[in-house]
Amino acid sequence: MDVVIRNANLADGQQGVDIAIEHGRIAAVGPRLPLQAAREIDAGGDLVSPPFVDAHFHLDATLSYGLPRVNASGTLLEGIALWGELKPQLTQQALIDRALQYCDWAVARGLLAIRSHVDVCDDRLLAVEALLEVKRRVAPYLDLQLVAFPQDGVLRAPHALINLKRAIAMGVEVVGGIPHFERTMAEGAESVRILCEFAADQGLMVDMHCDESDDPMSRHIETLACHSNRLGLHGRVTGSHLTSMHSMDNYYVSKLLPLMREAGVNAIANPLINITLQGRHDSYPKRRGMTRVPELLAAGIPVAFGHDCVMDPWYSLGSGDMLEVAHMGLHVAQMTGQQAMRDCFRAVTTTPAAILGLRGYGIAPGCHADLVLLDAADPVEAIRLRAGRRLVMRRGKIVAESPRAQARLHLPQRPEHVDFRLGR
Ligand SMILES: [Zn+2]
Repeated sequence: MDVVIRNANLADGQQGVDIAIEHGRIAAVGPRLPLQAAREIDAGGDLVSPPFVDAHFHLDATLSYGLPRVNASGTLLEGIALWGELKPQLTQQALIDRALQYCDWAVARGLLAIRSHVDVCDDRLLAVEALLEVKRRVAPYLDLQLVAFPQDGVLRAPHALINLKRAIAMGVEVVGGIPHFERTMAEGAESVRILCEFAADQGLMVDMHCDESDDPMSRHIETLACHSNRLGLHGRVTGSHLTSMHSMDNYYVSKLLPLMREAGVNAIANPLINITLQGRHDSYPKRRGMTRVPELLAAGIPVAFGHDCVMDPWYSLGSGDMLEVAHMGLHVAQMTGQQAMRDCFRAVTTTPAAILGLRGYGIAPGCHADLVLLDAADPVEAIRLRAGRRLVMRRGKIVAESPRAQARLHLPQRPEHVDFRLGR
């Protein structure tokens, strides 16, 4: 064996497990494996998880905070306007440099798969070319999946549909959309039909920014579910954001959730962004805006949490830490039960991995040896502490390491060190 990790806990609750790795894949998982390996790693009862997966991000906008100015109102619409101001000034090299820098941060955080939307409304398709280049360069250590995203509306913006099809022809894999940003509800519904039919025809997945609004009448998710069902796209269609669902009439939602389930539609909430961008037109009480995560899960609909933005026109913070995303999602959705907290961990690991269609993902024999050793005993402790990544592995090779978090105390009659885990 090349590597064996001893005494690890797994996210499913197994404890004291060894993980043997050979030729970049997991060869065996079990207690006290009687194996020799070139390298032994002692997990010391810490959690080994498959890598974090971000199902919703914008790698073309990331790390552009303050360019050309900051978002003064903090609203979604000013962010879109600001991005429009920045677009003509973008250069391919700057896009590539920023995206690569973010991918470095991601790897350090154990985030090894990202679905990124890429804006296709600029006729030059600079961002598409740049992110396809980034995808090639990071492929040895990070899976980057691109969505052709018509930020200004596939019907509202001239050439957007043509550009979207050009982007797909260039190698972008997923069809995006933004029906709530089209001029009318009818044009929004029409955009969903056109895009779903194109995806079905091309055998592609669909992931739309859908109903990112506080308007309870923004019901494009219904149309998305309808076309997903009609075209047989079950499991391949995702509604991102779905924030209007927060404000919808409860009776209507009781009809909507089974429709989504029947159509095999996935949901992605973006807790950090939803809690900051939604409810901006409210005084008090102020809506949280995030979609109905526990109710979607209870209806059997897969829900992932995305980061969406890091230091861009819409969000001034963030560092690629999916545990911070899960932490916020847990709080906003009030998912404080033990099972619910574990569901929040799944929403940044196994669920988005399934939505992206990642192959060989997991801690099981035959899977890729892609994993993260966390400075925490279990998923709940990992979220509580936004635990450090002791070690990040890709295809059996260590790609990032961090020291364990520990503070040195200078107190009389107290221990010299403190860490934040009970009993340590
Ligand atoms: Zn987004």
